[in-house]
Amino acid sequence: MSNAKITIVGAGNVGATTAHIAAGFKLGRIVLLDIVKGLAEGKALDMAEAGPVQGYDGRIIGTTDWSKTEGSDIVVITSGLARKPGMSRDDLLAKNVQIVKEVSQNVAKFCPDSIVIVVSNPLDAMVYTAGKVTGFPKKRILGMAGVLDSARFCHFVSLELGVSSKDIRGILMGGHGDDMVPLPRLTTVSGIPITELLDKQTIDRIVERARKGGIEIVDLLGSSAYYAPAAGVVKMAEAIVDDSKAVLPCSVFCQTEYNAGGCFVGVPAVLGKTGVEKIIELKLNAEERAQFDVSLSHVKELAAKVDRLL
Ligand code: NAD
Repeated sequence: MSNAKITIVGAGNVGATTAHIAAGFKLGRIVLLDIVKGLAEGKALDMAEAGPVQGYDGRIIGTTDWSKTEGSDIVVITSGLARKPGMSRDDLLAKNVQIVKEVSQNVAKFCPDSIVIVVSNPLDAMVYTAGKVTGFPKKRILGMAGVLDSARFCHFVSLELGVSSKDIRGILMGGHGDDMVPLPRLTTVSGIPITELLDKQTIDRIVERARKGGIEIVDLLGSSAYYAPAAGVVKMAEAIVDDSKAVLPCSVFCQTEYNAGGCFVGVPAVLGKTGVEKIIELKLNAEERAQFDVSLSHVKELAAKVDRLL
């Protein structure tokens, strides 16, 4: 079992589920923190008590006290409001920027050497907030969205083709919104591009469903998804803890890369023990580039709003 210390801020749906999956993966010592008294403590104790049954050591504590997070290697920020039916992720910005600001100040104070994975929405704007408030080197600030969005895309491909989702590899870029950019030509089933297996109309339908994947769950559930988002976070944390150099789509700081001009946006990145170890620059075709630019300008608009609110 790894001895990494992982703090998860927010013990709601995404935070608690992340803690539970991470415990099952024996990812390290887990601190679950929330502002609501008793919530993180209760959920952490419950998860620790599942350890003897599930075969992990109950190294999970819950707290409202930031001093318990000292020395964390990774901090996952899930604190903030989640969408309700009829809301866009952008509607959360004004409230969540204040929550992520306060949390980031504590991260800078108590966990100055940590790698931060932001989950709160609107994602890319909240990653920008955490980057700005902590002042951490950019390679230590990441956002989780692409792992989730591409998992959704791969799941829909597997349903359409009737093949194992384990054989499907997909990549998706841009901001975490309806203008995200799935890349069907680079999505493969055991190395076979799906453009060889599905017609354009079917692919377009799957792309659209992936783009609206978040709201599909919100409309069913009344609040936002958490099993797949939490699995996405654990995938990123695992790459960092294991120094595995996994290639995952994440919101990371791009300056010259993709001519992004200095913003956090979803691109494929190599993750290892120092955080973002490399950004992979794909040669996008004209249509993909145009879609990416639309997404990029939306991400930049939201970052400008954050600047006005901070
Ligand atoms: P939730 O309401 O279940 O949990 C949020 C928790 O944050 C609550 O327990 C709340 O008490 C806590 N919190 C609020 N302010 C805090 C603070 N200052 N310090 C510590 N804890 C605080 O919500 P959820 O469903 O877990 O979603 C959390 C966030 O993740 C939302 O913003 C949601 O939109 C986002 N989300 C992102 C993705 C993604 O792909 N990036 C996916 C799903 C959800």
